[in-house]
Amino acid sequence: MGDFTRRAFLIAPAVGTVAAHLTLLADEKPAVLGGKPVRKMKYPGWPIFDQREEQALLTALRSGKWFRGNGKEVSRFEEAYAKVTGAKFCLATANGTSALFTSLKAVDVGPGDEVLIPPYTFVATLNVVLLQHALPVWVDVDPETCQMDARKVQAAVTERTRAIIPVHYGGNPADLDAILAIAKKRNLRVIEDACQAHLAAWRGRNVGNWGDTGCFSFQASKNLNSGEGGAIITNNETLMDRCYSFHNQGRKRKGGGDDEFSYSSPGNNLRLTEFQAAVLLAQMTRLEEQSKTREQNAQYLNNMLKEIPGVMPQRSYDGCTRHNQHTYVFRYDQEKFAGMTKPRLLKALTAEGIPARGGYTPLNKVEFLKRVMQSRIYRNLYPKERLAQLEQIECPGNEKLCREAVVFSHNVLMAPRSEMELIVEAVRKVQAHAAEIAKT
Ligand SMILES: *Cc1c(COP(=O)(O)O)cnc(C)c1O
Repeated sequence: MGDFTRRAFLIAPAVGTVAAHLTLLADEKPAVLGGKPVRKMKYPGWPIFDQREEQALLTALRSGKWFRGNGKEVSRFEEAYAKVTGAKFCLATANGTSALFTSLKAVDVGPGDEVLIPPYTFVATLNVVLLQHALPVWVDVDPETCQMDARKVQAAVTERTRAIIPVHYGGNPADLDAILAIAKKRNLRVIEDACQAHLAAWRGRNVGNWGDTGCFSFQASKNLNSGEGGAIITNNETLMDRCYSFHNQGRKRKGGGDDEFSYSSPGNNLRLTEFQAAVLLAQMTRLEEQSKTREQNAQYLNNMLKEIPGVMPQRSYDGCTRHNQHTYVFRYDQEKFAGMTKPRLLKALTAEGIPARGGYTPLNKVEFLKRVMQSRIYRNLYPKERLAQLEQIECPGNEKLCREAVVFSHNVLMAPRSEMELIVEAVRKVQAHAAEIAKT
């Protein structure tokens, strides 16, 4: 009640009394049933840019040096990003997917190997494993944190396991202490999928520095973006040499020029362009400040939303010292919302002016995976029993999370603080009318 009293004055000062505000919430018809929405304003758009990006792009354009082989922007960006993340080495790549793929190559994951991944992630985490003809082995997630459940890693390890890819989903660090301990014990490589976690930190040190490599994405939806783009960070120079070489057609990182015809190993072309690096350098001037805004708003939202019965904001592990809020997630308890299904809840919140989304659907159940497991190549590479076993892996934590998660994109957290209060008001209003809405 204490919180409600404070909230009532915060969000409805004109009403004056708590009682009046309570009546207001209960009386007001939900927008999804034809009432007035709680808010109408548009949230800040994404991306955000100004003359800084325009100037940077023009400079790169006019230089006539458009690729890393003769330009300076990509190297400048790598230096700057290594500094921001506190890593010894950084390699820019074409995108986050190629950062992950290159890392798997560098730690020698290939056909016949098993790789542990969580099912609550973007499809790229799965795709890079399949592209190496390695076997993806699901480790269930902890619905409270949305991360790979470290307590379930040990049981998933076999003699074929080569690597673990913990995903710092939403910018919330995975349980790195526990995952690294098992990796060490079983001699496994760790590739951090930090594609959503640009400034996230674990025990005061940025994520991406804890595993063998850390991979980032600068795709348009991400908190740091150049339309497309990616990066690998590592503190291991041998790995950096291998990553560089693979991403640049097998050319040597040191000693060989970028346009020389001298190759030390097979490779790919996964280079970032000078234009993207120029945009990233400009975008980076705002990264810290934008992130602080999101983090402060998320804290504020957490404190208010957790007071609502049946609303459970995402938890972070004790080792998390920075959650960089690529997304904001809370789970709802259907029973405290009169049995309302998630599609109805999302529709009701969206009608109130809150663009709520449902998050990921179970990746371990994705249709094409069965076909891959039954394909000629996989049948040649893996014992039939192992492939059959993998189809049986259940992820109840992930199912629960997929059923209960409500997700806001990071731009929602860039709105003024008063907008966070309206989100809370919308959730309370929808809950107050849950029975009517659930019936529709
Ligand atoms: C975005 C993302 C990727 C892939 O990054 P791209 O730059 O789009 O290739 C991989 N993993 C996760 C968790 C992501 O969010």
